[in-house]
Amino acid sequence: MPAESSYDCIVVGSGPGGYVAAIRAAQLGMKTAVVERDRVGGRCLNYACIPAKAVLRVADVLQEIRDAGDFGIKTSPPEVDFDAVMARRNKVVETLTSGVSGLLRKNSIELIEGTGSLAGPGAVAVDGRQLTANTIVLATGSVPRPIPGTEFGGRVIGTEEAWALSKLPASLAVVGAGASGAEIASAYARLGTEVRLFEALERVLPTEDADISKLVDRGLKRQRISVHTGTLVRDVESRKTSVAFSFGEESGEAEWMVIAAGRGADVDSLGLADAGVGVAASGLIEVDGAMRTSVAGVYAIGDLVPGPALAHKASEEGVIAVEDAAGLSTHPISYIDVPRATFCTPNVGSFGLTEAEAREQGHDVVVGKVQYGAVGAGTVYGDRSGLVKIVGDRQYGELLGGHIVGSRATELIQELVNTKLLEGGYPEVARTIHGHPTLSEALMEAARAADGWLIHG
Ligand SMILES: Cc1cc2nc3c(=O)[nH]c(=O)nc-3n(C[C@H](O)[C@H](O)[C@H](O)COP(=O)(O)OP(=O)(O)OC[C@H]3O[C@@H](n4cnc5c(N)ncnc54)[C@H](O)[C@@H]3O)c2cc1C
Repeated sequence: MPAESSYDCIVVGSGPGGYVAAIRAAQLGMKTAVVERDRVGGRCLNYACIPAKAVLRVADVLQEIRDAGDFGIKTSPPEVDFDAVMARRNKVVETLTSGVSGLLRKNSIELIEGTGSLAGPGAVAVDGRQLTANTIVLATGSVPRPIPGTEFGGRVIGTEEAWALSKLPASLAVVGAGASGAEIASAYARLGTEVRLFEALERVLPTEDADISKLVDRGLKRQRISVHTGTLVRDVESRKTSVAFSFGEESGEAEWMVIAAGRGADVDSLGLADAGVGVAASGLIEVDGAMRTSVAGVYAIGDLVPGPALAHKASEEGVIAVEDAAGLSTHPISYIDVPRATFCTPNVGSFGLTEAEAREQGHDVVVGKVQYGAVGAGTVYGDRSGLVKIVGDRQYGELLGGHIVGSRATELIQELVNTKLLEGGYPEVARTIHGHPTLSEALMEAARAADGWLIHG
């Protein structure tokens, strides 16, 4: 049945930004369509966040089996059936993407397959067909960028391909030790691949707090990853079954090279210039705090706009955009307080300012640090070396940042984000009763340390 052509809201792109925007628009009574040229759920569900976490979960299970002896369980050495690993990965993706399709249907949102572009005021063209709407939300995400001197192709791949390999590689060279690179290195090394990880800057996870980077560096090396920081990869040559390269004074070869060193907004198909949508020198679309572009009625969200390129940030921007379009009052996002998660081992969760950033900004900085070993759960569950670091401002007890490395850090960080959002500070975290024995008690102790009365430690 041919789709209708007139809507209240058209969303271009069905990733975590686009599909959430569409559902919220439908909830607000807008007749809504989503245009998608590839697969429902966007890159996040099909190629990026979800496949990555599905494979990382396998590496974590494998690790637990290998460590089982520490808990008094005898096992024979586990074997990785990579075909089965990837079959599970695909099933996870399918379950979640069909869930999104179901949500679109449930909310009477029309899914239009094809490439959308702006086509004059209030109009979107989809492969030659003209659709109209008062509100248009651009949510087309981002595409990988190679490092200077390289191009994708042959044995040089991006992060999305790295999570979709059909055979467990014998060796990998991963370029870029940010969140994506660290996750790929940590998963494949534990699955049995020989991994070299390269980072041009001086430390792994270079945007995290320096204390966190140090522990992650140690953890990655413990997984037998050969970590090269402050190192540029050059002379990359893709061959038939391998890729050759040089770094420092050395040369190397790997089955695949994964470039995990940056992405750019996917705007080429959108017709932004003709439509008059302002784009910054960075290639990102310029928006205000309500996600409005320079063209009335046109919004942009997610990886297309400034702020951390994260799925949950995209979703929140989607909600803000359509609520603004519906005439509700919205609040701009405090981007620094968006939780950041890196799912490598050791796990990393953070938000807000690092200690160095807080000092640079002239805060009266107070730091509370405890290892997981300070609380009972660290010992009970077998992770004493995890670390919680709280960065605060002494004057009003403000929570400026939280940095956690260790088991379940990606889950634990949320408590500090919520406390800040609810206008609590570290003294409030210190006085909130936490269940025992839980790892979250380490957050309470770090807050007590910041407040000057650490009990356990
Ligand atoms: C390997 C990897 C792992 C990641 N892991 C995490 C993680 O664990 N947690 C996290 O928060 N973030 C993670 N991210 C980042 C996250 O994937 C992005 O921030 C998120 O996908 C952005 O969502 P989006 O809605 O802006 O766009 P996308 O998810 O990129 O979706 C955009 C959609 O738009 C479609 N599209 C593009 N152009 C058009 C057009 N003209 N017409 C119609 N459709 C179009 C695309 O086909 C795509 O489906 C990861 C990224 C990568 C690469």
